[in-house]
Amino acid sequence: MQYDYLVVGSGLFGAVFAQQAREREKRVLVLDRRSHIGGNVYTERVEGINVHKYGAHIFHTNDKTVWEYVNRFADFNRFTNSPVANYKGEIYSLPFNMYTFNKMWGVTTPQEAAAKIAQQRQEIQGEPRNLEEQAISLVGRDIFEKLIKGYTEKQWGRDCKDLPAFIIKRLPVRYTYDNNYFDALYQGIPAGGYTKLIEKMLTGIEVRLGVDYLPKQDEYKSIANKIIYTGPIDEFFGYSLGTLEYRSVRFENELLDIPNYQGNAAVNYTDRETPWTRIIEHKWFEFGKDEQGKDLPKTVISREYSSEWQKGDEPYYPVNDAKNSELYAKYKAEAEKIDNVIFGGRLGTYSYYDMDVTVAKALAVAKAELE
Ligand code: UDP
Repeated sequence: MQYDYLVVGSGLFGAVFAQQAREREKRVLVLDRRSHIGGNVYTERVEGINVHKYGAHIFHTNDKTVWEYVNRFADFNRFTNSPVANYKGEIYSLPFNMYTFNKMWGVTTPQEAAAKIAQQRQEIQGEPRNLEEQAISLVGRDIFEKLIKGYTEKQWGRDCKDLPAFIIKRLPVRYTYDNNYFDALYQGIPAGGYTKLIEKMLTGIEVRLGVDYLPKQDEYKSIANKIIYTGPIDEFFGYSLGTLEYRSVRFENELLDIPNYQGNAAVNYTDRETPWTRIIEHKWFEFGKDEQGKDLPKTVISREYSSEWQKGDEPYYPVNDAKNSELYAKYKAEAEKIDNVIFGGRLGTYSYYDMDVTVAKALAVAKAELE
């Protein structure tokens, strides 16, 4: 065999595994069907701005090992995500915190806010059974109606009653004046963009771009002992048990000849009528400055439109409702029967992973496999 490992997909999971294998002197080949490395964390430089081509990626973690690991490959800046919600022109702070409660109800103390939420939560009896009940139980009906319902229905194309409760638990609720979106000890954006970070991880590793593995698997299977597959698991099995549902995202990018469009990296449009879910203004991930600390004169914005994934689109988010979870369990059982293929990443394991979890999973798989 020519290679010890064939890694299908050069996104974060694939790149971390490949790096770990290479570090242990394994022979590794990485394939990607796209014309670039990095999967969905890929960034592209436009007018000095690192544009997150497949949506905003903000690295955050509580896991010191993961943080130290990624810092081996890039310097991370001190970016803290504080998205703003725009509901029909009313501006609210995210995540849900004292600034949000003050704007919504005029309350100024944690006690007043807690009392307001306790009162509104009364409509939910027992354990929340879906996203709507979970949201109301966490922050009450007013916030659900203005900041959650419309955004969630646009994002997922499903009623909040038909979505799993865990999705909304991604967002912290705080009785402090703290606009930091993430409950994370460590947070930041890699200087120079994610593409550079992935490039650094893949140093010294053979990478072939524009190669779609599945149609060519007979050719490639025979050159490696083991395969790390990070593409969609249902596609791997030729959709033989059925098609898993994903959400896709379309980005409308604009380069504007002004220095400041919206004054923040992310503005969420939480009403139902605005067709996009959010607008990202990429320069603010790096404080609007170039590497020398000079203000950048132009700006790039991306409007995000969420849609149901169809064959041929890029899958972004797994829809982890009951129906799809059941189907995934069947594919997983099939996957476990194949001992020379390891499935990983958001698509390979049909999981709504953040980047830090993806890195942790890849490190764990590498450790189990290589040590
Ligand atoms: N969400 C919301 N309003 C917001 C932001 C998020 O209702 O302004 C909900 C929505 O259901 C979303 C979920 O919280 O899908 C998770 O949001 P997150 O920002 O973690 O999503 P991601 O950045 O992964 O798209």
